[in-house]
Amino acid sequence: MPSGDRHQKKDVEAALKRAEEAGLKVTRKQNGHTWGLVVCCPCNEFHRVNCTPRSTGDEAKKIDNFTRNHGHHA
Ligand SMILES: [Zn+2]
Repeated sequence: MPSGDRHQKKDVEAALKRAEEAGLKVTRKQNGHTWGLVVCCPCNEFHRVNCTPRSTGDEAKKIDNFTRNHGHHA
């Protein structure tokens, strides 16, 4: 990911990195409260990443859950 495309919250950024390492696609697509998407191409499913999550730990956990559910076949 280019450095300008990093999430401002460290916890979320770390989870996005884990998603990328698992083979998922991280797309920066700012739109309102949405920072971008974590996409599983084989399933054509995605997780919407909040740019200002109330709890960064919760947002990171949701990304990790998506990574766990989709990392195996990505
Ligand atoms: Zn999948």
